[in-house]
Amino acid sequence: MSHAKLAIIGSGPAGLTAAIYAARGNLEPVLFEGTEAGGQLTTTTEVENYPGFPQGIQGPELMEAFRQQAERFGTKFVRGDVLDVELSKRPFVIRFDDGQLSADAIIISTGARSKLLGLPNEKQLIGRGVSTCATCDGFFFRGQEIAVVGGGDSAVEEAIFLSRFATRVHLIHRREKLRASKIMQDRMFSNPRINVHWDRVVHEIHADEQGSVRGVSLQDPRDGSLSDLNVRGLFVAIGHVPNTTLFQGKIDLDENGYILLNGRGTMTNIEGVFASGDVADHVYRQAVTAAGTGCQAAIDAERWLESQNHSSH
Ligand code: NAP
Repeated sequence: MSHAKLAIIGSGPAGLTAAIYAARGNLEPVLFEGTEAGGQLTTTTEVENYPGFPQGIQGPELMEAFRQQAERFGTKFVRGDVLDVELSKRPFVIRFDDGQLSADAIIISTGARSKLLGLPNEKQLIGRGVSTCATCDGFFFRGQEIAVVGGGDSAVEEAIFLSRFATRVHLIHRREKLRASKIMQDRMFSNPRINVHWDRVVHEIHADEQGSVRGVSLQDPRDGSLSDLNVRGLFVAIGHVPNTTLFQGKIDLDENGYILLNGRGTMTNIEGVFASGDVADHVYRQAVTAAGTGCQAAIDAERWLESQNHSSH
């Protein structure tokens, strides 16, 4: 079995930033890319809020630049998914499609994914009117009418945020009561640009000839009746799921499945296992914050490995 000082699982901004730092620190990291290499940014189009790119940059292009930078300093990449991890003894063992690798330390950066509605053309319209991130895409909808789906804090927060750009925001919720906190609800109800559509689900997303969203049809689940809404944007805010199935029962997770960190650093409850990016962050979820915690994880791993060397001499 081959061995690495440091294995990194995940190839979004967190994993690749951890790799850049670790490779420059001579840790010769091995990075498992997964089948959706590059993470969530590869499903977006223009990224305008990543510092250093005043004209904006396409998400996939940004991730390719991260990857090249990690490669330049000697990161080894493994394609495909990790199938299993053994964390109960050291060195840790990672099993993947083509074999297994033992590692002294691991950084988990497997990210999270937005829940989607499951409509047939929804995925294909991401970046063309359908979005799962108001902070990222709100600015593109200046002066337009848009819809937000969901009834939790995320949906309400996004609706309020989007009302700065859109002429009108339609919040679509599948029942007659919101799950969002009272304070957020009050803020939304006092906002004249937001209309709430109770007891409605998105039945269909309509696209124009250019393949961009031009409207949605809504259905009342109580009687099946349909109505149309002319919107240019559809923000799906029905929650996120962290990619932690691999770690269930092996590492401490919170009640929503996010990895719990030990104090202010990036170490998990298992010594030598670190986590960075959205897999341990349900609050900020930005490429730049993920990259920042990836850097922290690499520094934490490097210092921890160094302390192990000293204690074993
Ligand atoms: P959430 O609380 O789980 O709410 C998800 C919402 O989406 C629910 O209203 C749910 O409807 C709806 N939904 C789920 N699946 C759906 C589907 N297939 N079709 C239509 N609607 C669907 O998720 P969240 O809003 O992302 O919040 C997650 C956690 O983060 C919560 O603890 C929240 O308080 C916290 N958070 C806090 C803040 C803040 O404090 N500023 C901001 C964002 C998030 P039902 O209500 O009918 O189940």
